Amino acid sequence: MKPVIHFLGENCKNCIKCVKSCPTEAISLINGKVMIDDAHCINCHVCVQSCDYKQLKIREVNLEKAFQEHEYNIALIPTSILSDFKEFNELKEFVYAIKKFHFDEVVQYSDIEGELYHQAMIDSLKADKVMLTSFCPTINRLIKREYPTLLDHLLPYDYPVEIAAKRLRKSIRTRILVFFHFVNVLENSL
Ligand code: SF4
Ligand code: SF4
Repeated sequence: MKPVIHFLGENCKNCIKCVKSCPTEAISLINGKVMIDDAHCINCHVCVQSCDYKQLKIREVNLEKAFQEHEYNIALIPTSILSDFKEFNELKEFVYAIKKFHFDEVVQYSDIEGELYHQAMIDSLKADKVMLTSFCPTINRLIKREYPTLLDHLLPYDYPVEIAAKRLRKSIRTRILVFFHFVNVLENSL
């Protein structure tokens, strides 16, 4: 994995909260400096949230550059985000705010998620062991790294967001940027 967490350092208090918070023991404090083992990092951002002194930062995606390099920019929003809004107007404002940020379109993909959950129920009932689904890459990386015995129990589906991105690329015959979860960028030239 590419390095995602950046240690700023100037105001680090050596409190080791970040070290203790990391679920994969990817962080160590060496000679007063926080070191991150990128090979073990699963990109969960827990350490960033745990630091009271804002000394850890998620590396930023250069969106401006990505926008310039693509003719059409789409933001994909997961269904889970919908539960954060108390009323429809709040959701509308959120969508308008994203569009102001140079996105041409905002797309949700609850239909794909619904189909996959339905399929998961069917496949789980057919299986002779307990099956799991996770549509979160971070959780899956955690399982792979820390609980490998569970790998056999994971249903082998593509991520809904990737299916949604593929569907959009097929339907929009131009060079598009698909941006999702506000962290990851998928790029494609069709
Ligand atoms: S939690 Fe923040 S202040 Fe504490 S050791 Fe980690 S980076 Fe430094
Ligand atoms: S992002 Fe998560 S896995 Fe990576 S160093 Fe921070 S806490 Fe550990």
